[in-house]
Amino acid sequence: MNKSLLAVTEPPIESQTQHLMPITQRPDVVFTKGKGHYLFDASGTAYLDMMQGWAVNTLGHSPNLLKHALLNQAEQLINPGPAFYNKPMIELSNTLCSASVFDHVFFANSGAEANEGAIKLARKWGQLNKQGAFEIITFDNSFHGRTLATMSATGKTSFAPLFEPKISGFEKVPFNDPQALNNAISSNTTAIMLELVQGEAGVIPAEYDFVKQLETLCKQHNLLLIVDEVQTGVGRTGKLFAYQHYGISPDILTLGKGLGGGVPISALLAKQAVSCFAPGDQGGTFNGNPLMCASALAVLEALETENILSNVNEMSELLQTEFFELSQKYGLGQIRGQGLLLAIDTGAYDAHQIAATAFRKQLLINAPRSNCIRLMPALNIGPEEIYKTISVLDDCLSELS
Ligand SMILES: *Cc1c(COP(=O)(O)O)cnc(C)c1O
Repeated sequence: MNKSLLAVTEPPIESQTQHLMPITQRPDVVFTKGKGHYLFDASGTAYLDMMQGWAVNTLGHSPNLLKHALLNQAEQLINPGPAFYNKPMIELSNTLCSASVFDHVFFANSGAEANEGAIKLARKWGQLNKQGAFEIITFDNSFHGRTLATMSATGKTSFAPLFEPKISGFEKVPFNDPQALNNAISSNTTAIMLELVQGEAGVIPAEYDFVKQLETLCKQHNLLLIVDEVQTGVGRTGKLFAYQHYGISPDILTLGKGLGGGVPISALLAKQAVSCFAPGDQGGTFNGNPLMCASALAVLEALETENILSNVNEMSELLQTEFFELSQKYGLGQIRGQGLLLAIDTGAYDAHQIAATAFRKQLLINAPRSNCIRLMPALNIGPEEIYKTISVLDDCLSELS
């Protein structure tokens, strides 16, 4: 009843949205509320959200903890400016460094901006330590962001013709291919940058041996190892950082997405030995603002106090078991990923069609490629939401069969 009322009072969606640049195709729904694992549209219809703002809402929609952190901080101090210290900035830098192998942090606002900082840091380090070496090796199908430099670093073929000329100095090599990597290293190389699980490529994990060889190559050739953990960081893979699964010790790491639990904050972390920015080299108006830093602190604290990492691992197993049964039933393909960054190949089914069908059944899932479905739910998800997801997917597949 609500819905039909709305239909007569609200102007059509196209006329409401005509002033927004059409940078992506959005469904004809306006979301007005979020709570936990659910999003609600203006008519009150609930959608089970297995995307959570693109792996961003670490604790689900509007968790009390985050609301309180934002409210408390907003009452104290929103923005003293980037040229002054503030308490949450200091505390967050200490928390991140004591939980990792890094010594210094630069806060930014988006994953791309953190990666842009990593690229600048690697170039400066090359200038100081490697006779001006500036090239960074990145990987086919990788994704590092949408600024001009991070698009240039990205290995998505669809980016290749866009916004030419790109920023030069990125060598792309096939992923998980140590020989190709070895061949690409030259005296111009300053760093290797990779995602430990390529998220946008369809959830492709870096192989253990490959990562070990990559680290060895970095040591042999005196190259920086940069891990882009914008998607995999902050508990997403079942450890606080994905590099911890590999037993490696990167020089530089970037975080974004899940760090703020829904609000825009990212981070560039570096070991002391490579942290060579001098005053004036790097900055940004909103960087390290207390409001966002307080949110990230609340998220990191919750990961510990609410035992989130063990939940990620348990729910990951459950989801994989359930995926496996679906795969058997419908002749789907491989299940990939780690923790709560999981994908399943959809075999003969069109993944975009599955996602669109799921949307009509109020389930939000993502198809990063036409042959795979990706799930990136909140890290505090429970069995109930997983069974519901699988049951809706089952309905979708039987409908499309
Ligand atoms: C999303 C993503 C980025 C870009 O982050 P933005 O916040 O969209 O700029 C960079 N790297 C990886 C691995 C990502 O998943």
